[in-house]
Amino acid sequence: MAHPEPAEPSAPAIVWFRDDLRIADNLALAAAAGSGRPVIALFVLDEESPGLRPRGGASRWWLAGSLRALDRSLRERGLALTLRRGPAARVIAELTGESGAAAVYWNRRYEPAGAAVDQAVAADISARGVAVQTFQASLLFEPQAVQTRSGAPFAVFTPFLRHVLALDEPRTPLPAPARIRSAAGVASERLDDWALEPSGPDWAAKFNEHWTRGEAAACEKLAAFADGALADYAALRDRPGGPHTSRLSPHLRFGEISPFQLWHAVRHAREAAAPRSIAASADKFVSELVWREFCHHLLWHHPDLAVRNFQPRFDDFPWRSDDAALKAWRRGETGYPIVDAGMRELWATGWMHNRVRLVAASFLIKHLLIDWRDGERWFWDTLLDADPANNPANWQWVAGSGADAAPYFRIFNPVLQGAKFDAAGEYVRRWIPELSGLPADAIHAPFEAPPAILAAAGVTLGETYPAPIVDHKVARKRALAAFERIRERTR
Ligand code: FAD
Repeated sequence: MAHPEPAEPSAPAIVWFRDDLRIADNLALAAAAGSGRPVIALFVLDEESPGLRPRGGASRWWLAGSLRALDRSLRERGLALTLRRGPAARVIAELTGESGAAAVYWNRRYEPAGAAVDQAVAADISARGVAVQTFQASLLFEPQAVQTRSGAPFAVFTPFLRHVLALDEPRTPLPAPARIRSAAGVASERLDDWALEPSGPDWAAKFNEHWTRGEAAACEKLAAFADGALADYAALRDRPGGPHTSRLSPHLRFGEISPFQLWHAVRHAREAAAPRSIAASADKFVSELVWREFCHHLLWHHPDLAVRNFQPRFDDFPWRSDDAALKAWRRGETGYPIVDAGMRELWATGWMHNRVRLVAASFLIKHLLIDWRDGERWFWDTLLDADPANNPANWQWVAGSGADAAPYFRIFNPVLQGAKFDAAGEYVRRWIPELSGLPADAIHAPFEAPPAILAAAGVTLGETYPAPIVDHKVARKRALAAFERIRERTR
């Protein structure tokens, strides 16, 4: 005789979405769906819990589109996204009370202030008998689990990379749940009321030409990259003129795609390419993914990474205060084309190629001697992928003040960097159209070009395009002298 099916539990389970705005490979969502409980999919706009860094403007724009896309894919499964605003602890306490939820599920986050909020939420609701389950879905290697042989956190990338690559391979990604029961009668705020996207003026409208937010777009982009540009990633990733990198960073930042999905896509691509080998490119791409892990590891152990020098000797560094130079840098008007092209790409698209980020950041810090924190804050506000770990860790790396940092005395020459990585000048021509008539051998240093070449290209320095705001040789000497000063003080 067949037994009757057990009744499905009626008290809901809440899935608290944060930096994991996807339905595939979302362990918290999968667990809630699998519990058989009706599910409440929740996003909390928390601008009040102490310590959380307020989002920048570009990031708020991305968040709006990402939430809309998540809501759409949940609705295809019969579930709407519930939006609430306020300190997470209060919002979740209220929602568990009002819905009678029996459990709350989330994927762990690793920004220390966020993790502290999560701990407080867990303690609060567990004390009221609500079950809490948390999952690893946003990092391949959790910082709590990775340490040196002596039990210390890693502070150097290469041993970190070697260590994590010797661990068990990251788990395979989960598909999106086929079926999710929806809890009824849960009120949601309206996304438009949050005004995450700018209006009057809508300076972000231009981003739509370059980006499609949401999980579906992220998955398409990953598939295209794995089948295409990945093969030449090792050779071409430093060239900003073409689409040689994945451009997945904002999608990863918001968790529209998981690092597990990337890891395994690269692995499949490597196998599918055989007998042709794309091993060097696949390894390089994996090591970039591991840089992301390393940055999160650093932030976990150094919560004030965005405001405090990792190396305290930099606390005495003689930074200059120069508003005019900072403004010229932000606007892409330094007179050095590769720097200006990068800063204009950032303003126009919310993204900048990694090689150019390195050159532009180095220029601010070393040529202008402006505190890396000023640059970090500008990137934080303007980058769509602005990340609490990747952004400060990379800025400190460039400054020389960070963990495993570039040596301070290695000062990029922006002209040589341009000539090396944008040899034909196509990147500069795209972002600085007023220089587009210059030949390749003049485009990275218009200030050294003969007057006839400038005239033929319609370039008048100081009028159609700025003259350099600093001389490279002078700036280099000044930077080295400043570094010597902190070295002397620490001897
Ligand atoms: P790909 O080359 O396709 O790499 C794949 C993924 O690996 C990236 O999406 C990213 O998640 C990760 N990755 C690659 N390089 C790095 C790196 N150096 N550090 C950490 N992760 C990396 N990246 C951010 O995601 N957010 C930031 O706020 C950010 N700020 C930066 C600031 C400076 C000054 C510098 C020099 C770099 C910064 N980066 C940041 C790292 C890097 O520039 C971007 O991740 C990369 O350009 C994104 O493009 P992509 O997705 O095509 O990268």
